[in-house]
Amino acid sequence: MICKVKLWADGGIFVRKWLLGLCLLLFLDTQTAGHLREKTSLQDLRDRGIPTRMLERLEIPAEEIRLYGIFWEDLQYFPAAGRKEVQGQQFFFENSWHARRTFQGERLHEGCDIFGREEKSGYYPILSMTDGIVEKVGWLPLGGYRIGIRSPGGGYFYYAHLSSYAREFQTGEQIKAGEVLGFLGDTGYGEEGTAGKFVPHLHLGIYVRTQTEEDHALNPYPVLQFLQKRQKNFFY
Ligand SMILES: [Zn+2]
Repeated sequence: MICKVKLWADGGIFVRKWLLGLCLLLFLDTQTAGHLREKTSLQDLRDRGIPTRMLERLEIPAEEIRLYGIFWEDLQYFPAAGRKEVQGQQFFFENSWHARRTFQGERLHEGCDIFGREEKSGYYPILSMTDGIVEKVGWLPLGGYRIGIRSPGGGYFYYAHLSSYAREFQTGEQIKAGEVLGFLGDTGYGEEGTAGKFVPHLHLGIYVRTQTEEDHALNPYPVLQFLQKRQKNFFY
């Protein structure tokens, strides 16, 4: 009898170990599946020509990288046009994502600034990077003369500090990639018409809608790196 009980007890331990092992296997399996899903998804983006490794090098998390997939295929042109007769690099930008800004209170830089070799307002044309619809246009105290274009995939491209617009734009109108929107300038940081408070540059912002946010800001730096070779140059 004692022997039987002991056997049962041993059996119980065996069953418990077995169950524990099974649970551990199931746990590891779901972990691997999650990992695979993540890999597959980034692989999908890679297959679509999205340079995910470049985004990963900037320490952009996988979740965020997927958001770039919303509009990546809409990207066609670098947003500033240079002069055809000029040799070498005409535009400069660096990764200033979330750098501190102090005008009108503490905030973080939600975009990327593009400076021209010539520090002149109204000199360089600003082009739409994508096809799209004009969603917002006009003056903002921070952005100055700005225009916001929603691309077919759903990316919102915000071009700010323009010296002037190329023409009169209406909200809801269709824009072609490469179309001149206005000119690189130094407007903003005050009431309508304020200019000259900083070196002329284009402030580019990129936003997407997510399940939780209407305007989720993404770092435009990798987008600009990607489009650098697709710069239109004109005679002007
Ligand atoms: Zn900026």
